[in-house]
Amino acid sequence: MTNILISGASIAGTATAYWLRRHGYAVTVVERAPAIRTGGYKVDLRGAALQVIERMGLLDAVRARATDMRVATYYDASGRPLTTVDADLFGGRTGPDAEIMRGDLNELLYDLTRDDVEYIFDDSITGIAEDGTVTFERSRPRAFDLIVGADGAHSNVRRLTFGDESAFTRDLGHYISICTVPNTLGLDREEAVHATAGRTANVYSTRQDTRAKALFMWSSPPLTYDHRDVAAQKNLLAQAMDGVGWQVPALLDAARDADDFYFDSVAQIHLDRWSKGRVVLVGDAGYCASPASGQGTSLAVVGAYVLAGELATGGGTDGYERELRPFVTANQALGPANIKGMVIGSRAALWFQLTMMRLLPHLPGRNRMIERITGPIARAANAITLKTYDH
Ligand SMILES: Cc1cc2nc3c(=O)[nH]c(=O)nc-3n(C[C@H](O)[C@H](O)[C@H](O)COP(=O)(O)OP(=O)(O)OC[C@H]3O[C@@H](n4cnc5c(N)ncnc54)[C@H](O)[C@@H]3O)c2cc1C
Repeated sequence: MTNILISGASIAGTATAYWLRRHGYAVTVVERAPAIRTGGYKVDLRGAALQVIERMGLLDAVRARATDMRVATYYDASGRPLTTVDADLFGGRTGPDAEIMRGDLNELLYDLTRDDVEYIFDDSITGIAEDGTVTFERSRPRAFDLIVGADGAHSNVRRLTFGDESAFTRDLGHYISICTVPNTLGLDREEAVHATAGRTANVYSTRQDTRAKALFMWSSPPLTYDHRDVAAQKNLLAQAMDGVGWQVPALLDAARDADDFYFDSVAQIHLDRWSKGRVVLVGDAGYCASPASGQGTSLAVVGAYVLAGELATGGGTDGYERELRPFVTANQALGPANIKGMVIGSRAALWFQLTMMRLLPHLPGRNRMIERITGPIARAANAITLKTYDH
């Protein structure tokens, strides 16, 4: 039986493991973290990704764990509510689209695969030889027929095989930071937002979550910092948000205490080809669309399905490229477009956005305007016709 190693046990890794097993491959997954990473932020599943989730038999479980968000409310610097928007419109969701916490989805995918996939936690690949021999930080060397890099935007497998990530990174001119904070605003399946020119702060609490997530995004030239120095990153966030009113000072204080602090540039990964020799990339490792696209999770799920299906039915990595590339291109195009609406550049543009949101429910052409917001995402999410990959 063909022996496949996957690096990374997040959405792309576990979903790829599932489909490879279903096609009869022997699968090992190596994950750097000591266990499956639960928690995290909310992510969307749309279009073709929902079809894949359904083919995995997970649709009901995903719906049962949906965030059930109700509304998003914008506040001014003094805490006065400015306008309230339906949560689905705020998140660019239409029809059957589902929103779920990333960790909940990861747990569902892990539970589906844990019995017949070998998982190795707390380890990482250190070398991949041309003959498929893989060396690890902790485990003994082993030989594999194929190595799948599903280890995220800062992929280790990609670095070992294709070289330094700077060659593949397209910076979108913004930073993002997210962490868990106490739900001091008493939010119930709702999102509170404060936006100033170039800086946006959000805090939300989803169904069955007694705490809240704080999310900050701001425009910035590239920053130089140590990726392992979390205290320094918290300082950079505080500097970026300095002078912003509303609840931001309290949220920054809470962020200082957070033990799940996330900080990164908003960037995409672009490679001309996702495979080389015995290595192939899936999910953010190969084609990160950035959190601004809202489609990273869907790309990972669809990518996993297409990669395993093409390998199993003879298309190989060429088939994977051919089937998936237009879908990736369409979804990556959302990132630079969406970020302009998430972090507004000027006070005038901010005023215009808030006024439009306030008036939208009362405008005669509102359906057309809503379509202008949700249409591009829906079209990109459906920009692939999935094969059945029966064999
Ligand atoms: C703040 C934020 C908000 C987001 N919001 C959305 C959203 O609203 N909608 C949406 O669809 N997507 C969103 N995304 C993107 C989404 O989370 C990812 O696109 C999606 O999880 C697919 O990721 P992945 O599995 O390819 O990589 P990741 O989720 O990054 O997982 C990579 C895995 O590899 C592991 N790993 C890393 N290095 C190694 C190593 N050396 N060895 C072994 N394992 C390793 C990591 O521990 C991790 O488990 C967001 C992302 C972020 C960061």
